[in-house]
Formats: sequence, C-alpha cells, structure tokens
Amino acid sequence: MKTKIDLFTYSCTGCGICTRRCPKHVLHLVSNGKIRFVTVWNADACDGCKKCEKICRHNAIRIVNEYERQQL
Ligand code: SF4
Ligand code: SF4
Repeated sequence: MKTKIDLFTYSCTGCGICTRRCPKHVLHLVSNGKIRFVTVWNADACDGCKKCEKICRHNAIRIVNEYERQQL
C-alpha cells in the first residue's frame, strides 16, 4: 500500500459522501447494528488523490500519499 489512510471513526457520521466520491471504490460504509461508519476495503487501489479527505466535513479521514510519505 503506497498511501496511508487514517480513519477517525469517532468523528464519522456515516453520511457516505466519501464513499461516493472515491473514484477507486476504496471506502465503504459498515454498520455495527447501531451506527454506520466508514471503513477501508481495498486499500491497495487507493491512488492518494485526497478527494475523500477534502470532501469530508468532519475531518474523519486523513490521507498521507506516497509523495508525502517520502517527505517524512
Ligand atoms: S468519513 Fe466523512 S464523508 Fe465519509 S462517511 Fe464519515 S463523515 Fe461522511
Ligand atoms: S485518496 Fe482518493 S483513491 Fe484514496 S480513498 Fe481517498 S478518494 Fe479514494
């Protein structure tokens, strides 16, 4: 996996906007029976575009792409 995907589940409202925005279908919603929240299904498909991070109004996703990882 080239991109590091951090999900802050406690901030996620389960709105699903990021799952629809992701062009690689990396993110999906799951439910524990009480609440819905986002999870990662196929992380290897992520290209680090950050569209999910930018569209989430609750700062529940942080993407560290390959370029940024090289700068660390
Ligand atoms: S991570 Fe953000 S955009 Fe995605 S489902 Fe959660 S609150 Fe919505
Ligand atoms: S960075 Fe881009 S490809 Fe990766 S999960 Fe977010 S929207 Fe999908």
